[in-house]
Amino acid sequence: MENTWENEIEIQIKDRISRAEKILVGLGEEWKKDQERHVEKYYELLNHIIKEKDYFIVTLNTDGMIFEAGLDEKRIAAPCGNIHWYQCEAGCTKDIWEEEEAGALNMVCPHCKKRLTPNTAECENYIEEGYLPQWKAYTEWLSRTLNKELLVLELGAGFKYPSVMRWPFEKTVFFNKKAFLCRVGEKFYQISEEMGEKGLGICENSLNFLMKVGK
Ligand SMILES: [Zn+2]
Repeated sequence: MENTWENEIEIQIKDRISRAEKILVGLGEEWKKDQERHVEKYYELLNHIIKEKDYFIVTLNTDGMIFEAGLDEKRIAAPCGNIHWYQCEAGCTKDIWEEEEAGALNMVCPHCKKRLTPNTAECENYIEEGYLPQWKAYTEWLSRTLNKELLVLELGAGFKYPSVMRWPFEKTVFFNKKAFLCRVGEKFYQISEEMGEKGLGICENSLNFLMKVGK
């Protein structure tokens, strides 16, 4: 095969993955459950690529697909919530119910009798308690990456929640001498100029990209 620029990039990223002591993965909207693409198989591929590594994943997705690919739940934070969990639509309580529990309650809040609604950032009165324990696990994990070979793989994130991944990821890499940021996406793959040699923006669908890197 011809050694094109694209191949060079894949080789470089594969090499960075194998050398990294810590891998932080950020998953954006390109990883949303989709009728046309079977995202399950990409989650499985991701697991295959990072399972031997000390990794942590932050996802903007709320469809819960990430929990079905064998990835370690203790290494996943989903700050935008999970459609399989329920909360009171009025946010009258910080209680969160799983699907069956919500069903047993006939989708009615036992405290105020308002409807139960999925526990996601789309909810006007979003109860953040659902994801906070894992967010704490994430920040603790992140504090242990200082001065370690950290690879940050940001895959397919847009600009809906830049304060969750995009900006803090850049900051993390900027302050860690051994860190590197690889941002992949169809539209928002650009990295800020201050990153200099510490980052690479790749204009490609992040699922397709992972498929090449996982080969
Ligand atoms: Zn209520």
